[in-house]
Amino acid sequence: SGAGRKHRLSILGSTGSIGTNTLDVIRQLGGRDRFDVLALTGSSNITLLAEQAIACGAKLAVTADAGQYAALKDALAGSGIAVAAGPSGLLEAAGMDAEWVMAAIVGTAGLAPTLAAARRGADIALANKECLVSAGALFVETIGKAGGRLIPVDSEHSAIFQVLEEDQRHAVERIVLTASGGPFRTWTREQMADVTAEKARAHPNWSMGLKISIGSASMFNKALEMIEAKHLFNVRPEQIEVIVHPQSIIHSMVGYTDGSVLAQLGCPDMRTAIGYALTYPLRSTLNVDRLDFAKLARLDFEAPDEVRFPALRLARLALTRDGLQGAIMNAAEETAFHAFVAGRIGFLDMAEVVETVMDQMVDVAPATAIDDVFAADAEARVRAAEVITAR
Ligand code: NAD
Ligand code: MG
Repeated sequence: SGAGRKHRLSILGSTGSIGTNTLDVIRQLGGRDRFDVLALTGSSNITLLAEQAIACGAKLAVTADAGQYAALKDALAGSGIAVAAGPSGLLEAAGMDAEWVMAAIVGTAGLAPTLAAARRGADIALANKECLVSAGALFVETIGKAGGRLIPVDSEHSAIFQVLEEDQRHAVERIVLTASGGPFRTWTREQMADVTAEKARAHPNWSMGLKISIGSASMFNKALEMIEAKHLFNVRPEQIEVIVHPQSIIHSMVGYTDGSVLAQLGCPDMRTAIGYALTYPLRSTLNVDRLDFAKLARLDFEAPDEVRFPALRLARLALTRDGLQGAIMNAAEETAFHAFVAGRIGFLDMAEVVETVMDQMVDVAPATAIDDVFAADAEARVRAAEVITAR
């Protein structure tokens, strides 16, 4: 029709689970007729990144892995698509003039590029929760000051965002985050002691990247989400509840001062949350499974067990200690996760490493600038590596 300008967007982490789902949503909502894809970024998966860039007519493709620059250049030879690599390449991707940026890199590696996109005033669709856990209020402030919107993509936070109306914020009593409980929901600590990463990554309901899958098994993902909720919705630690809900149908809830509880429900499919973030405040038509309540028959709930899943207790600790404890917890957890996947520590050791580092760094002063966050992150990684080596 030619009516209206195309929506300009970029995807940081396009080759991952969230990234590929985002490209699918874009295709479903009209693809190149409606959207101008400026930049896509990946890391080691060059073939997929090049395919994606060609398919959506991206202007720039970036690999985070500087060693893969030549391979990406080759794969895109003759396409007219610009190529860049490494940290500066990621910043170049973030700096392109997209109005909407999907932050879907995994881990703190996404913080610098996401901040760069935020500083130019882009709307940030946030899957990369580690940014918010780490940089907290400074991250929210950066986006707000530049005039962009922060739209959560994490299913729990999208659910809360969808049911929480601005003029009812004063009446929010509690945020109830649902948790599937992961593959070890009913396991004892003895059973969890010697599980492998292969076993831990098999999530019962969601298909996701490796880190978040392991984080679902240990409930460190929920721990990060508790801190994410605090910064997104500006609630006090005691207003954040976690309830285990094995079917993952209710994606989270908001309880109000009049006793009402509002929930958002759907099949476990990230495309609903991604689509909402893309067309917010409007909704669009998506080809995802619809809930069949008769087939569903029941929804179950259980209190979370902080003894079997100490990550939840550590999140409470980080929330009450505040300051840079979120950044420290996040960085130590990422380090412990890599050590677990490499077979260097056991599944239960991850929480012990994280708690040790959080305790060691309890006196670190709160951040006044983003560099303080990067410094605490780096120190927590060094300390976590030392704790792991000393075990
Ligand atoms: P993934 O591992 O599938 O993909 C990660 C993406 O980041 C890939 O494009 C990869 O190339 C890129 N990447 C990896 N290391 C990088 C580095 N060092 N520098 C730059 N880029 C790098 O992960 P995912 O499951 O898509 O998760 C992405 C983020 O979204 C995570 O923060 C995760 O917690 C969050 N999230 C994911 C889901 C899900 O369903 N997968 C749900 C909610 C939130
Ligand atoms: Mg989630």
